[in-house]
Amino acid sequence: MSFLRLSGLEKTYPDGTRAVKGIDLECEEGELVVLLGPSGCGKTTTLRMVAGLEQPTAGRIEVAGEQTTGLPPGARDVGFVFQFYALYPHLRVRENVGFPLECMGVGKSERQQRVGEILERLGLSQLAEFLPEQLSGGDQQRVALARAMVRRPRLYLMDEPLGTLDADLRLEMRELIRTQQLETGVTTLYVTHDQEEAMSLADRVVVMEAGQIRQNAPPAQVYEHPADLFVAHFIGSPGMNFVEGRVHEGCFEGKGWTLPLSQESLRGPATLGVRPEHLRLDPQGPLRGRVAMDEYLGVCRHLYIDTEVGRLAMRVESDGRLPVGAEVGLSVAAEHVRLFDPTTGRGW
Ligand code: ATP
Repeated sequence: MSFLRLSGLEKTYPDGTRAVKGIDLECEEGELVVLLGPSGCGKTTTLRMVAGLEQPTAGRIEVAGEQTTGLPPGARDVGFVFQFYALYPHLRVRENVGFPLECMGVGKSERQQRVGEILERLGLSQLAEFLPEQLSGGDQQRVALARAMVRRPRLYLMDEPLGTLDADLRLEMRELIRTQQLETGVTTLYVTHDQEEAMSLADRVVVMEAGQIRQNAPPAQVYEHPADLFVAHFIGSPGMNFVEGRVHEGCFEGKGWTLPLSQESLRGPATLGVRPEHLRLDPQGPLRGRVAMDEYLGVCRHLYIDTEVGRLAMRVESDGRLPVGAEVGLSVAAEHVRLFDPTTGRGW
């Protein structure tokens, strides 16, 4: 039985905004599940409903088989970490971290011991006597994390917890969150709009758009087998290239380009998807085009090629500079293409 279950969860705000439109989601005990999607797709609203900070307009929330839908936040046993640190400004670090234990009535000596342990684990021992205003943003967020993790709640709910940190700190905190989560085994629902964060942290990624789930799968599956055109384009930077055409006698045909397919597919109109790293510069390649733009990114280079089937993005080695306007040939291996139904957008 799944540990966290959302069934038919909906939220319509009083002004009529339908933020969440019927979500079904199950998380196993100990899983770290990331809600990923563009701004406004309903991630935070979903998380806030699980926390009890918003009431759903319809649907159910169950934790460990127990219906929590109508319970107040304090009765749900969740550790919540927001994007903004929300520390108590007049309390020192050790008091901030110990606060949830105090609220639970944990005695002073046990409190001191548990606070000491978590401060040590998160590298905060030296800062125990500091006030929040004396800390950097990164340290404040680390304290917020310590406060959520000082007890072992049934669920961690994290809403863009790394959102305000700089790149180095994000990496460090990402590792810290994953290590802590694996060590404690607490089921975690984590919200972000940053796909790198989602892919690197998650056991499962739930891609949302406009209040609905588009795909719910492990990171590699979301990347390699996107469920629909939205996911194919949203995941990856740049996202998948698309070419409109049709499948006929085992081949994809699009605007003069014919590509034999590796397996028997349905026939009819199709959108072909190919990731930038799967396009190859190939003087004998069947696709001809000219370099429209060249982006140097250090670890690699992105070339944008204008071809007869439209502009295609491709990834090459960083030393593979080509002048704008250069004529090139392109090819792609059949096993790397994905096909989508152009009407529904769903993968074939
Ligand atoms: P972001 O990453 O920008 O936080 P999100 O995916 O978390 O986005 P939500 O914050 O859940 O999205 O918002 C979903 C939709 O609900 C948005 O259109 C938002 O404007 C709307 N919304 C959120 N809170 C309210 C509210 N209190 N009243 C009315 N509409 C709201």
